[in-house]
Amino acid sequence: MSAVQTFSTVRTEINGTSVQNLAHSFGTPTYVYDAAKIAERIADLHAFDVVRYAQKANSNLAVLDWVRRQGAVVDAVSAFEIQRAFAAGYVDGKEPAEIVYTADIFDTPTLDLLVKHDIHVNCGSPTMIDQYGERAPGRNITLRINPGFGHGHSQKTNTGGEQSKHGIWHDQVDDCLVRADRNGLAVTGLHMHIGSGTDLDHLAQVCSALETTARGIGRSITTISAGGGLPTLYRGDEQPVDLARYYELWDATRKRLEGEFGHKISLEIEPGRYLAAECGYLITEIRAIKQMGKNLFYLVDAGFNNLARPILYGAYHPMSICAHEANPDPKLQDVVVGGPLCESGDIFTQEEGGFVASRSLPVAAVGDFLVIECAGAYGFVMSSNYNSKPMAAEVLLRDGKPHLVRARQTFQDVIRGESIPE
Ligand SMILES: *Cc1c(COP(=O)(O)O)cnc(C)c1O
Repeated sequence: MSAVQTFSTVRTEINGTSVQNLAHSFGTPTYVYDAAKIAERIADLHAFDVVRYAQKANSNLAVLDWVRRQGAVVDAVSAFEIQRAFAAGYVDGKEPAEIVYTADIFDTPTLDLLVKHDIHVNCGSPTMIDQYGERAPGRNITLRINPGFGHGHSQKTNTGGEQSKHGIWHDQVDDCLVRADRNGLAVTGLHMHIGSGTDLDHLAQVCSALETTARGIGRSITTISAGGGLPTLYRGDEQPVDLARYYELWDATRKRLEGEFGHKISLEIEPGRYLAAECGYLITEIRAIKQMGKNLFYLVDAGFNNLARPILYGAYHPMSICAHEANPDPKLQDVVVGGPLCESGDIFTQEEGGFVASRSLPVAAVGDFLVIECAGAYGFVMSSNYNSKPMAAEVLLRDGKPHLVRARQTFQDVIRGESIPE
């Protein structure tokens, strides 16, 4: 993967395509995804036997299709994510599974769909094993284990430990095997999604916990999954993950289990953000500039209805300006960047806890474009119609050509399904 990167605050093009042309052709706000970046990130992970894309990060059909063409398979966390995978050309009943359903519950329609198609299930609660076993005895399942400790920069993203709702508590695995046996389900996979990021000491702990659990289950295990959580560099000064070391730790775990069991173990990784974040650019237009006390605001036409990560997590996104009059070396000034919503939290430059921060960006004029970068993961997919704002358009840049892969919503789209009683 790319070494420490720096983000420029001036941007005129996205992989050779002019930002102004994109804005004029598709309007604003528009998400643009650079397919080449997704392909690069998938290629980074070639050492793993299976790259399983956690599509919840960005499930546009064109993105899924592109991921499929790069040889990666998918994880789905809902019935409609399964249907998206089908629509993008993935099929059920393959080995390794092209679609895995991962969750802590089944809702009824999802369970029906999983039974009807042969889709591998990654169970995150003991109850799921009973419910699935009754309906689809004899199938193979994976257990998602909560090893009793977690990691994650925020309570909202921590995926292990007592505070997390995810996975099967590590000391209940024996009970789960009894539940599986009752209905002839075979536990063939083990999964831990903790999100160690760049912390390799922590990762070693995760590997060791998974190994202990696998030994307890025994020879039925044929697949282990490292889960997701590979970090994306949202700031220029962050350390990239040492992928070679990351792989080595998992590979050594896999090899010890192969030695113990006497058969091959497939090693999966399940990135969301890592594949989808960097490719995404949210192009907005600056619609007003105003001074409020000591703060200068750039107000753009996208809000947290389009990109919720800043208001949800205080997430940082690089930003750049595409001015109408190109100026490669503009004067910088500290600004606060906000959106159009009737809500004071509609600020893109905020820190965790909602504290308004400022950003050093080029001096700009109303009508210039402001690009919010590294927005491909958990961007569009978390958007809403709050304030009756339409969801943005999505564009996939492939081989130098922009393709509209989701039209901006119309008023009819926004009120679809609503009615007034007689
Ligand atoms: C969200 C999720 C991922 C991906 O997480 P990232 O941090 O985006 O890599 C992987 N696996 C499961 C089960 C998930 O829920």
